[in-house]
Amino acid sequence: MLKLFNTFSKKIEIFKPINPERVTMYVCGPTVYNHPHIGNARPAVIFDILFKILKDIYPEVIYARNITDVDDKINDAAKKNKENISNLTQRYSTAYEEDMKNLGIIQPTFIPKVTDNISSIIDMISKLVELNHAYVANNHVLFDVESFPKYGEISKLKQKDLISGARIEVAPYKKNSSDFVLWKPSDNDTPGWSSPWGRGRPGWHIECSAMIKKFLGNSIDIHGGGQDLIFPHHENENAQSTCANNSILAKYWIHNGFVTFNKKKMSKSLDNIIILNDLKNKYRGESIRFALLSAHYRQPLDWNDTTMMNAENSLNNLYSILLNNVDIKPKISRQTNVEKNLLNDINTPEAIASLYSTARDLQKAKKNSLKSEIKGILLRESYFLGILQKEPNEWLQKSDLLSLTDKEINNLIRQRSLARKNKNFQEADRIRKNLLDNGISIKDEKDETRWTR
Ligand SMILES: [Zn+2]
Repeated sequence: MLKLFNTFSKKIEIFKPINPERVTMYVCGPTVYNHPHIGNARPAVIFDILFKILKDIYPEVIYARNITDVDDKINDAAKKNKENISNLTQRYSTAYEEDMKNLGIIQPTFIPKVTDNISSIIDMISKLVELNHAYVANNHVLFDVESFPKYGEISKLKQKDLISGARIEVAPYKKNSSDFVLWKPSDNDTPGWSSPWGRGRPGWHIECSAMIKKFLGNSIDIHGGGQDLIFPHHENENAQSTCANNSILAKYWIHNGFVTFNKKKMSKSLDNIIILNDLKNKYRGESIRFALLSAHYRQPLDWNDTTMMNAENSLNNLYSILLNNVDIKPKISRQTNVEKNLLNDINTPEAIASLYSTARDLQKAKKNSLKSEIKGILLRESYFLGILQKEPNEWLQKSDLLSLTDKEINNLIRQRSLARKNKNFQEADRIRKNLLDNGISIKDEKDETRWTR
């Protein structure tokens, strides 16, 4: 039984799909104007795990994650780079897909692009105008928030607070300060498409509503994304789709927490944004993925120097246990503890603890028949988490790290002590060799290990 925390009800609910024969999920994808950062990777990894869990339970799961390739941020970036807009969006779409592949993320069923779906967007806007949920003013089409009394039901923000709380300068043609843009005019230098309201381009929110309708249907089971999307993006998507389709947009709204850096919000002004493309020069995708799973998805995840070291060391440990059992043929396994943890609102920290426990059992097992059974469990568990998918030898050969900091050395020493305590002498020797290769010699004394450069 799958349980998920629904932002809509603010409760953990039992997942009951609208149609169990065809489960649908949509996750808001990237706006392609720069390289994705670690915060963009978190929802992609979390919903990848949820996709695998759903596919294991239901006969058909349709998962769509869009690419937003029409946006003012894109136009600004292209102007700044003096680059053609479609070149820029193509370049960053490819970079995003490569980063996702590097994180071991399986392809969603559909990856629709806004530029391929303009006619569906125009159709939905026309419908909203026809039903008096939208109006044309000053070459723009705007959603009339007052026409939808339930506006605010996702974010739990009250309409009157939204109106009085609006601090930004309000365009004079808006009936209401919280009315938002569905269509806006484009000048000759800006991408535009012909429409009943003149040459222009869509607003961000309507893009998702139209692509959800086209690829998944009027009402979907799961709508996901980062918690920063709850308001206004998901609130606005919900308003548009509910009014145009006369049915709910999503039964379960799932949102992940932020990734912080040394407990600070990542931002351009603090210059602390961690770009995946930079991170992958130093760490492998699987380690980045493992680190992203270390906190529960609804909690903030703090990224610091030790986050990656711990992830890398944990994987080295797990792979070395697999290497010790490389000749054992795994027995096919049924539902495991990791799956039970993931079914419980995608509890990845507990799932990792269960995986460790299985790995320890494998390490302790004496008989080959038992080893074979436990190895089968370990491999099934690691499939759902999307880790331990490589040949152990291949992984461990590449795990030597260059130029270690004191903190990293102490971390490795701790890992080695743990390996020795668990009688995993092969791993302990490997860490000693790794340290030696980096010019660090170690000496075991009574209760502690000392090291020198
Ligand atoms: Zn969206």
